[in-house]
Amino acid sequence: MEAARREGRTIGLVPTMGALHEGHLSLIRQARADNDLIVVSIFVNPTQFGAGEDLESYPRDVERDLRLAGEAGADVVFSPSAAQMYPRGYSTWVDVEGLTEALCGSSRPGHFRGVCTVVTKLFAICGPDRAYFGEKDAQQLAVIKRMVQDLNTPVEVVSCPTVREADGLALSSRNVRLSDEERAEAPVIFRALSAARTLVENGEREAARLEDEIRTVLADASRVTIDYVEIVDAVGLTPVEVLAGPCLLAVAVWFGDTRLIDNLTVVV
Ligand code: AMP
Repeated sequence: MEAARREGRTIGLVPTMGALHEGHLSLIRQARADNDLIVVSIFVNPTQFGAGEDLESYPRDVERDLRLAGEAGADVVFSPSAAQMYPRGYSTWVDVEGLTEALCGSSRPGHFRGVCTVVTKLFAICGPDRAYFGEKDAQQLAVIKRMVQDLNTPVEVVSCPTVREADGLALSSRNVRLSDEERAEAPVIFRALSAARTLVENGEREAARLEDEIRTVLADASRVTIDYVEIVDAVGLTPVEVLAGPCLLAVAVWFGDTRLIDNLTVVV
């Protein structure tokens, strides 16, 4: 990577936790189109999982990941161990305030501290010109943009659209953990978000009405437990009462012990 940099070649980094799917591959292809050298990191980062979360059971398939990453255009796959990333005595953390408190931050305390720390380390190790993140994790994207701005990090953060199954379910490594019955119900998340977006397109501006609509559609599914349904402004992620400007319709739900998130941006 040092040599590539010295020769003036640009580096694109795609951070992932592996179990690669079309969502990840779309990021890698975008990175391939924009840069000379493509690094894909695969690291199931323990510090972004809370106690009782699915760190141990998180899907892993390194052989398949290496093949898929290569086919999509990766030149280097960086797959460190937890001990390499967090050796004995590790003591330094990157904590973005404010943006990390809402949405997933409240149900997953410490999650974004782990994300920001590992992304900072990956940036330092790989020295990318550009790094690629999916809009599927909209809060993560907003937090990383904030972090890069606040820390004067010389990396361009590139956001990539959410890739979905034909039935609307956002691709996620966790989808493989759904039972057949849960998988059959899971498109309800996108249906609920889309129903709210249709209301906005038809002139609705009251966030409470949109939340109600999302909750009502989600209630069609018997296996869903809602973690949150929130309408927030797309930049600061603060709750809105009346929509004005770009807003995020954001949902987190549980299917059994599998937690899924999704979102849509609406611009009024
Ligand atoms: P993960 O392996 O889940 O940590 O995701 C690695 C990167 O892929 C993150 O930037 C995610 O936002 C992105 N990503 C995950 N799922 C999707 C998807 N369905 N569409 C687009 N990007 C995605």
